Formats: sequence, structure tokens, C-alpha cells
Amino acid sequence: MSMVPKSHPRYKSLLNRGKVVEAFESGILAKGGLIAHGRGETYDYLIGEKTPKAAEEAIKASAAMLLLAKNPVISVNGNSIALAKDELIDLATELNGKIEVNLFYRTTEREQKIKEFFEKNESNNENYKNNKIILLGIDDANKQMPNVDHLRGKVSEAGIYTADVVLVPLEDGDRAEALVEMGKQVIAIDLNPLSRTAQKSTITIVDELTRCIPLLTEEIINLKQKNLSNNELKQISEFDNKKALNKVLKLISDNITTE
Ligand code: ATP
Ligand code: MG
Repeated sequence: MSMVPKSHPRYKSLLNRGKVVEAFESGILAKGGLIAHGRGETYDYLIGEKTPKAAEEAIKASAAMLLLAKNPVISVNGNSIALAKDELIDLATELNGKIEVNLFYRTTEREQKIKEFFEKNESNNENYKNNKIILLGIDDANKQMPNVDHLRGKVSEAGIYTADVVLVPLEDGDRAEALVEMGKQVIAIDLNPLSRTAQKSTITIVDELTRCIPLLTEEIINLKQKNLSNNELKQISEFDNKKALNKVLKLISDNITTE
């Protein structure tokens, strides 16, 4: 992928595609993850490959919700790690450091590959090296989520099982729904405003993962600096998800309508 010149109009998209292919080849990503990525690319095209206004608002509400959380957990899978491992580490560092690996196709081999990817990756994020991250869901996934089949419902007690707010980049719809049924506030990142994940979550950020994670981290830092009260944060976290999703659908509809 280093072959792609920076001037290429699809540079960022091709770079991300390369990361996903590499992750597949190294065993971090399952085959199905490649297809999920392609679906995401399609929707990114439809929203104009930039963060929609509705997503900016969702990011702000999510930042406040995450700051108010007692036990926030960032749930990651093969796709999200392949695309944005370091960005997710930086985000977790601004929270309680908890990242939980939760795989659609969980195998011991993939779990170990992911652990290695975090531990001895070439970029070796400073925040990870400085032990600011608690990587959950690999050796300690011994609790079961209700209404989700066995392997996909395995979660960590210190993590998702007891979390009050869960950030789920690229989650599957039935798990997102099960998390909401467990009484959690669920923040999803999903380019498809029509997916069950997008529809069921408390807040859906309809934006591309690598574009919105740094924005979310920046917003958290920004809100921290303002020293707001819990009441003020609560107000910022109030969000009408249906309305926001409709705004994105309107954007897509405008984008594909020719005069
Ligand atoms: P659901 O189960 O929620 O109805 P789905 O089955 O259609 O969704 P999955 O294959 O479970 O979709 O998950 C892939 C989802 O991740 C898709 O909705 C896709 O738009 C989204 N996605 C893929 N790549 C990205 C990305 N880089 N950033 C944000 N979202 C992405
Ligand atoms: Mg699905």
C-alpha cells in the first residue's frame, strides 16, 4: 500500500483498504471482516467521505456520555484494531484505559494474534507502553451476555459485563441490541445509518472510524478543560438518535439526487 501516491484522490481509502488486507493476511481479521469493510466503504461514498454535521453532534454527545461514565469500555474487533489501534489507545487513555477485545469469529489463535499486535506492534504507542491500557476480553472473557450465542457473548467481568457505557465501533446488530437490553448506554460508530446497530444504539456516530476517533478524543480533552459539572455534561449527552439518523439519510438522499 506504500505504493499509493499521496496525491491519489482515493489515498486514504486505499490506505485503509491496505491495512484491512494486511490484518487479514496476518490472522487478525476474519474473512467476513473484509466484506464488512466493503460495506462501510460504500456508505462512506454515499455520505461524501467527510464527517457529517449530525456525526459532529453525535461525537459531542458521546464525549460527554463517556466522561460521565463510571466504567466506560471500548469494545474492539479485528476491523477496528486493523484500522485504528493507536487512535483507540489514545482515546482509552483519556478515559479509564479499558479496551475489550470482542470478536465475531472468536478463535484462540486470533485472540493471541491481537494480543501480540497490541504488545509488539511497530508503532508501539507510548500510551500502551506506559501501561495506561487495560486490555480485556482475551484471558478474562468468562462472563456471558444474555441472548447472544456462546462465543460471541463472552465478555470480561471488569469490562463490558459491568460497563455502564460501551463504545462499539463496527458492532453487529444483535450484540448492540443485547447490550442495550443489559441496561447499558451504547455508542456505536457505523457508516450505515440503516443497520440494526445504528438503529438500536443510544448514540450512533455515522462516520468513518479512522476519521471520527481522533475527533472524539479531541472533544473529550476539550470538555475536560472546561471543568463542567455533571449536570452540564448530562445536558450535552442528551441526544435524539432517530433524528440524527434521519439527518444522515437526508444527506445521502441529497447526495444521490441529481438535478
Ligand atoms: P447490523 O448487524 O448492525 O445490521 P450489518 O450486518 O449490515 O449490520 P456488519 O457486517 O455486522 O453489518 O458490520 C459491518 C458494519 O460496519 C457495516 O454497517 C459497515 O457500514 C460498518 N463499517 C465498516 N467499515 C467501517 C469503518 N471503517 N468505519 C465505520 N463503520 C464501518
Ligand atoms: Mg450484522
